[in-house]
Amino acid sequence: PITVFGSVNIDVCAYSDRLPRPGETVHGGSYAMGLGGKGANQAAAAARLGGQVEMVGRTGNDAFGEMARSRLAGFGVRTGHLSADPDHPTGIAVIGVESSGENCITVVGGANMAVSTDDVVRAGPLFAASAILLLQLETPLSAGLAAAAAVRAGGGRVILDPAPAPRHGLPADVFRAVDAMTPNETETETLVGLRPTCPEDAAAAADRLLERGLSIAIVKMGARGVYYRGPGQQGFISPFPVTAIDTVAAGDCFNGGLAFALARGEDLASAVRFAAACGALATTRAGAADSAPTLAEAAALLG
Ligand code: ADP
Repeated sequence: PITVFGSVNIDVCAYSDRLPRPGETVHGGSYAMGLGGKGANQAAAAARLGGQVEMVGRTGNDAFGEMARSRLAGFGVRTGHLSADPDHPTGIAVIGVESSGENCITVVGGANMAVSTDDVVRAGPLFAASAILLLQLETPLSAGLAAAAAVRAGGGRVILDPAPAPRHGLPADVFRAVDAMTPNETETETLVGLRPTCPEDAAAAADRLLERGLSIAIVKMGARGVYYRGPGQQGFISPFPVTAIDTVAAGDCFNGGLAFALARGEDLASAVRFAAACGALATTRAGAADSAPTLAEAAALLG
């Protein structure tokens, strides 16, 4: 299976004509609660495509934890290894959105920050049997590295999405502990000191990432497309033409799609193209996990 080890949040979004200033209360017209957190988004994206997906992480032992579990199950994600932490609340993002599209977000990591190597030990056989592991940086890195080692020991591959951007880069051993990284422009800049805006820059950034021990570097540049480089393969995928209305979770849907395509045996070039179509489709829909496309939608865009 595809295993995702990472964060699970409930996103609470309130819509108003304008955002409140400090000390002010505004009345909003509507609100929505959705599944979020980079881990859960990537799991939902891979499962909606039809992948066999397990989510490993922590929610709180609370109502939002129940909600997150049932939303994940609704996407087809297995949650048997998602534990309910009695000491920490479920992670949330409180999001204000005004009609101009401007937003204001507070994320409280809660139980995500308590994820540890204990979670890896508990799900040991699952990790050993995983073909692909998806990691991000919204849960403690030490636990992610333990999960990576467990999956690699079983012969699986590890894809780290270095998001949110690590302010001081990543320790050298991380580049040898995973197989692939998928940074966006900002994350690439924090990792290699170069902000890519064209395929040539992205190729240079990918080279620097590979020099540090990765075997696959995938540089995501939003509406500017994506560059990839791996053993014997490299290339640039132009952005698929879509009308973007909300780019939230585009990168997560990309990673979910990438894992799905690799797990069904596609080579790197074809898997990155598939992932780029998934990322593009995610921008056409509002919400985090809710913006994940189906296999039929991805196939239609791929032509
Ligand atoms: P992140 O959400 O991590 O910042 P990106 O914004 O780079 O990631 O989006 C991930 C991928 O989704 C991109 O590399 C691209 O393939 C696709 N994508 C994102 N925005 C667009 C867009 N406006 N048009 C077409 N494809 C897009």
